Amino acid sequence: MCIFCEIIKGNIPSKKIYEDDNTLAILDISQATKGHTLILPKKHYANMLEIDDNDLKNVISTAKKVTNMINTAYKPLGFNILNNCGEAAGQTVMHYHVHVIPRYADDKLVLKFEDNSNKFDLDQIAKDITK
Ligand code: AMP
Ligand code: ZN
Repeated sequence: MCIFCEIIKGNIPSKKIYEDDNTLAILDISQATKGHTLILPKKHYANMLEIDDNDLKNVISTAKKVTNMINTAYKPLGFNILNNCGEAAGQTVMHYHVHVIPRYADDKLVLKFEDNSNKFDLDQIAKDITK
């Protein structure tokens, strides 16, 4: 069984922040920044390509609640709310989850997108994806 399913079953300890019938929010063991939290559906789905729409809505709704909870507790300057889909994208636990990462002035976390638009034809890409 996957490590997050073990946590959901209570077989592995975790720091629970929020729980309802369909979702669980736990502190990420790595704490990229103070309050870094993971939102998990209780049902196992590997990733965004597999998760049921209702469970995805449940997870996002819990992510909003948890973002508000962290905001009240720590008043960070902002948040990164993200999901890694697939090993190539940095996913290490193959049970769908959303990271809620509060941001602080001195947190030294680097999440940066390069501008690669000069390498691509946006019209062609829009055609490819929507055909
Ligand atoms: P990802 O790389 O997007 O799949 O994220 C997986 C996250 O799970 C990482 O940030 C890990 O620090 C976190 N993690 C792994 N094992 C545990 C655990 N037992 N309890 C809490 N977080 C964990
Ligand atoms: Zn699982």
